[in-house]
Amino acid sequence: MNKELFGVHAPTKDCTDKKCPFHGQLSVKKELFRGKIIKKDSNRSATIEWFRPYYIPKYERYELRRSRMHVHNPACVEAEIGDNVLAARTRPLSKTKNHVILAVVGSDEKSAVSKSAKKKETAKVAAKEEGKVR
Ligand SMILES: [Zn+2]
Repeated sequence: MNKELFGVHAPTKDCTDKKCPFHGQLSVKKELFRGKIIKKDSNRSATIEWFRPYYIPKYERYELRRSRMHVHNPACVEAEIGDNVLAARTRPLSKTKNHVILAVVGSDEKSAVSKSAKKKETAKVAAKEEGKVR
């Protein structure tokens, strides 16, 4: 069992998920992604999405390009739709899943109070992971 991964502490919730990076046998690589959950299914899977500016030289302007990824949502993390999450690369978990959610790093729905408290926590992680996050 891992207590900490890349500065993220293991959730305190009970978990029997074999594909959990904290409580199961899953090892993760330091290849991190940040995205927002847009879809969830009943089988501990989720889809995350993020946008990045892409430069078009001809028009000297940026357009927004979208990336989507299918990720595992461990029982102890249980991220909801609208949550911003940190995901890490791992072994293939299914046909389309190669990544697992490590932590929720903020949500659009939550109140400003809990957001600022979480921000402090995640700021440390972000500082560490700077440059590695795509
Ligand atoms: Zn777990």
